[in-house]
Amino acid sequence: MKIIMLGAPGAGKGTQAKKIAEKYNIPHISTGDIFRANIKNGTELGKKAKTYMDQGALVPDELVVDLVVDRVAQDDAKNGFVLDGFPRTIPQAEALDAALSKINDKVDYAIDVDVPDENIINRMSGRRACVACGGTYHIVYNPTKTEGICDACGGKLILRDDDQPETVKNRLKVYHEQTQPLIEYYSKKGILKSVDGTQDMAEVFQCIVDILEV
Ligand code: AMP
Repeated sequence: MKIIMLGAPGAGKGTQAKKIAEKYNIPHISTGDIFRANIKNGTELGKKAKTYMDQGALVPDELVVDLVVDRVAQDDAKNGFVLDGFPRTIPQAEALDAALSKINDKVDYAIDVDVPDENIINRMSGRRACVACGGTYHIVYNPTKTEGICDACGGKLILRDDDQPETVKNRLKVYHEQTQPLIEYYSKKGILKSVDGTQDMAEVFQCIVDILEV
């Protein structure tokens, strides 16, 4: 089962991607997480990516495509994967299709988690991320057991730089300009499935499971 998640930043696609990965025992591949890990470890890639991420801009295709193509070719992704945050541009989608078709494979589902912009801005201001493990929560929709402390590792929770209100507005603009065209791209391929992302987390997940298990 090869799945890609579409949706605006803050639509909840990361949370759903993790749940899909767990339920179907396939790797969750998040390009945002990969970049954040690189930033934390001070790598060259991390340094380059950070300048774009902090402004809410996309990291250039050439820094992200090879990384994902290599990752989906690894053994644990042979039977499936859920890609979260990739592709974000048409050239990225084309590169992924080309890499998969070389091994006679293809994306099975493109799941669009649909949430209007006004809800996104509201949601993002309540998002919190763990400085230690990168886990994400929401102060209203997905709170931790103890305020400000990560459930998974006990790390401190912060509002990420790229979740700051001005950056969020820019990320939404970038989303509409560069990523939204992918909806038509996958719709034309007949694999686009849309779910209403304004429902609560468990309901959204149930809709996704219903799509994957027809
Ligand atoms: P995310 O955690 O998926 O929202 O990603 C955080 C940031 O990482 C984005 O705002 C981009 O700057 C960068 N990023 C993640 N994935 C990609 C991608 N596929 N292409 C370009 N930039 C990306």
